[in-house]
Amino acid sequence: MSDVRYSDSSVVVEAVSVALAHEPDWRTRLACRLWGHHVDNRSFRQRAGAQRSCRCGALYLTTDGSHTRVRHTLSCFLGHHTYIRMADRDGHHEYACLQCGHPLMFVAHGDPYAAAGEFKKKVRYLCGLFGHRVHRVTSRAGFVEYACPCGHSFLKEEGPIQVIRHPLICVAAGHFVRYLCSRAKHSEYVCRNCGHPFCFADSENR
Ligand SMILES: [Zn+2]
Ligand SMILES: [Zn+2]
Ligand SMILES: [Zn+2]
Ligand SMILES: [Zn+2]
Repeated sequence: MSDVRYSDSSVVVEAVSVALAHEPDWRTRLACRLWGHHVDNRSFRQRAGAQRSCRCGALYLTTDGSHTRVRHTLSCFLGHHTYIRMADRDGHHEYACLQCGHPLMFVAHGDPYAAAGEFKKKVRYLCGLFGHRVHRVTSRAGFVEYACPCGHSFLKEEGPIQVIRHPLICVAAGHFVRYLCSRAKHSEYVCRNCGHPFCFADSENR
């Protein structure tokens, strides 16, 4: 008799754990509400279909112009980004982080990573403190694109800009990004508060 009860309860436990495996943990959903949604280019590459969904279960990063709040990827911010070449354009080499989608742009003839395949690069904290000293790259998609010698790029409204700082809201709350365009096997999004672009990888299974 006790054997039967044991096997019954183990069936229930198994059914509950299967259900939980499909339903994101409440802590995952709470973390997304507190910090913003999680992004990972490696899982974007591997997903099936065009629609992106967060590990909390939310469909996000749509292409309809709505904004998604994305959190900072701490392993990139406190450690290093891992970059691969994404495009050569406008006299620059453009890279994207394999994990968080952070872009990086260098003038082609002065690119210290021109010969590198995949490389790691730390964030330049001095630029974060004092601002990025930017030059104009081009104008595209209704924005003027700027880049700092550290590789950070921004998409801003027209107007002479020499120094760009990260606004406090983006440091504290993450970035509020919307879809901009698709190019070089990535979908590009831009933050409405700071002009920070992100390049999220398209699915390789489409
Ligand atoms: Zn989420
Ligand atoms: Zn990164
Ligand atoms: Zn900089
Ligand atoms: Zn921002």
